[in-house]
Order: sequence, then C-alpha cells, then structure tokens
Amino acid sequence: MNDAPRDPSGIAAPVARLPEVPVASRRLRLVGATVIDGALNDPISDAEIEIADGCIAYTGPRRRRDLAEAAVVDLRGGWVLPGFVDAHVHLVMSPESEERQRLWFPEQAVVAALGNLRATVEAGVTTARDLSGLTPGYRASIAAGDVVGPRLHLAIAMLSPTGGHADPVRANGSLPLWAERATTPGWAVVDTAEEVMRAVRVLVRTGADVIKVCTSGGVTSPHDEPEDAGIPREHVELIARELAGRRGLPIAAHAQNNASVRAAVLGGVASVEHGYDMSDSTIELLVEHGTTLVPTLSTLLRPSAPGGERFDESRRVRQDRALSAIRRAVAAGVPLALGTDAGIHPHGRNLTELGHLVRAGLSPLEAVHAGTLAGARLLRLDDRLGSIRVGALADLVVVNADPLARIDELADPATVRAVLQGGRFVKDLDGIGPR
Ligand SMILES: [Zn+2]
Repeated sequence: MNDAPRDPSGIAAPVARLPEVPVASRRLRLVGATVIDGALNDPISDAEIEIADGCIAYTGPRRRRDLAEAAVVDLRGGWVLPGFVDAHVHLVMSPESEERQRLWFPEQAVVAALGNLRATVEAGVTTARDLSGLTPGYRASIAAGDVVGPRLHLAIAMLSPTGGHADPVRANGSLPLWAERATTPGWAVVDTAEEVMRAVRVLVRTGADVIKVCTSGGVTSPHDEPEDAGIPREHVELIARELAGRRGLPIAAHAQNNASVRAAVLGGVASVEHGYDMSDSTIELLVEHGTTLVPTLSTLLRPSAPGGERFDESRRVRQDRALSAIRRAVAAGVPLALGTDAGIHPHGRNLTELGHLVRAGLSPLEAVHAGTLAGARLLRLDDRLGSIRVGALADLVVVNADPLARIDELADPATVRAVLQGGRFVKDLDGIGPR
C-alpha cells in the first residue's frame, strides 16, 4: 500500500495518500464563469473548464467550438474556484453543550458526524484535515460513496504529556463521553520516548495521514492553559525521525505560546496550528524552516456562545496578542493555510476564515490561495488538488459573489451554489448539473 499510485498521465502521484471519492465519468464543459485558479494567477472571465474522467482536461478562455459528447453547464455571472482545503477541523466535535451530548446514544454521535461532513462539503470544503477525533471508518465510507463528505486526511488522535492538552482524564479519574466511546485511539498521552514511539506507530497502523502533537496547553483541556508547556522539542524530533521512514508523514503542532512554537519548528513540524503568541525571532524561524502557519482565526475570533464562556478581559488580551503575532507573520512572509478548528467554530461555515485572513493582512487572492493550493501543499496533495489546472482533479466550487470584492459573503453556505468532487456534483442549489 506504500507504493505511490500513478495517474493515467504517468505523472508520479504525491507522497501523501490521496483520499478518494467517486468521480463522474460524464464529460462536462463549465462555461461563462470567472475562474480563480488558486495559484495566484489573474482571474479569467468568460472562461471554460472541461472535465473528463473526473479531471480537468482544459481550463482557459471559453472556446467557441462545440464538443458533441460534452454536456454544457452555463455559469455566466458566477465564479469558479478550486475546492477549498480546511487544514484544521474536528468533525466529531460539535459546538453543542456536553450535557446534551451526554444524553446521546452512540448512533446519534455518528449521525451528527455525518451531518458535519455534509455541511463541510456544502460550505465549499472538498478536502479536510481532521486533527483528532474522526476515525478512518468515515474516510472509507466517503471513498466508497456511501456518505457525502470532504476528502479526508486524519490525525485520529493527538499526543500530549499526562495532564496536557490531549489528556481528557478529569481529576477524579472520569472521562468525557467521546473518550469513553473511542473505538480507535481517541487520545494519546505520552511521557517518555518509548511511549511517544509506541503511540506514533499505533496511529500509523490505524491509518493516520498526519501526526498531531501538542507542544503547548490549550483552553479546552481540563488541566492546562495555553501558556503551559506540552510535548518537548526532543520528542518532536524523535517523531520526525520515525516518520521519515514512513512516507515522510507530516507533523502538525498545536502550539499557542512562543516557546511551544519554537519547540515545534525546531523539532521539524510541517505546520504550526494557532501560533497565537510569537516573537519576531520565532516568526523568522518559521520563515527559515518554511513552516506553514494555520492560524484558526475563526475560532480565535468567534463570538462567545450565549451562556457559554464569558468574553472577559483575559480573552480580549489573548485575541489582541494573537492578531498581532499573525499579522507580523503575514508581513514576514510565513506561508499560511486556511484552518478553522471547526468543532469549536460551527461546522459548515468554514469560509468565514477567508475574511479573517484578509483582515490579518492577505489580499483576497492570497486568502483564496491559502484556502486552496497552500492547504493542498501542506497535505502534500498539490499534484492533484488545490488549483484549477489541466490534470488536477475536478474538485470545484461555484459561488455567486465576487470573492475578490466581497470575500466575507463566501462564509454563507448559500453563496456556494454548487460543489463538485472529481467532476461529480455533490451540491447543486440551482439544478445546473447534468441530470
Ligand atoms: Zn483543533
């Protein structure tokens, strides 16, 4: 299974496992829309995209000749973008209260996760990286076409020391519901080098595409705070060495304080998640190492839930410090990828992040790039996904608002009129797809 699959064009596929979905066999021509390719090129108006066998066979100015065998879809007045990549979601988590979820039967939790998968695709996210919670069973059901959902890369569980961000055990020894019910490793508490190695190998055996470590504490864990230390640099390095011999699977680090970002980058992670506190010299380190930052601004800037946590002064101080760090990272040229931490942020509103990225200093075109090709590159899927070019899979999104002029409108799933995966319509609000 480690042999890199090859596509019919003979180009070697990327190192990462390509999450499959059913593809359309019908030949299609999408004509008349403005195409934004995800690769920072100027938009093309009155464009044409031809799809054959689930892949893009042509993209460019609209051609006047007819292709007898192709169905034509008229997209005048619309915009076509690559399917988005959300590099940080938790699809089994719901912003709903724990008390309500406590009353659920296990089937209700599965049904809720299926709803989250569909909402994510319908928001325009055709590929998602679940950074703990979702099991490979969901990925297999999507590949088989039994369930509609994004192509999935999975961390399965995250690693932290005892009492750290990944440790759900309460002081009295009890567990939250999700941890009691986990059939695959739902959490991985590691304190020694041997435990780290064992946990990583079990996750790879279970089907992980990425290893998630917590080099700092966080806000939702029972015992620690964002200022606390987590997995040390030595253990991150150990994991990086182990993964070098396993298709070079990437490491993603939950890192909220400055020291934890440094430990992650120096240890060899591919991405820093959150990065809410970074000195200028730490930002320089990200630039030097080419580490991607996934700032999850949707969660940082989320409004407080009614009856939920108080929007107190300490939260405002944290938000201001985080925005400053992320703006300085953007100015310094750190590569950014879109991630929402949906699960804490509501599912199905993933493109809220685009407007936040613009407010952090990206241009709208750069925000689209962060949400498409940059995310695909982080997942090592950019050979096939993340941009509109010949040979790429036809994962596409059709919107009815100009993303470069009205980017905040993309947050509303009603703006996303159609979504294609492998040339197949998985959302079609206007009934434009072939019958
Ligand atoms: Zn997260």
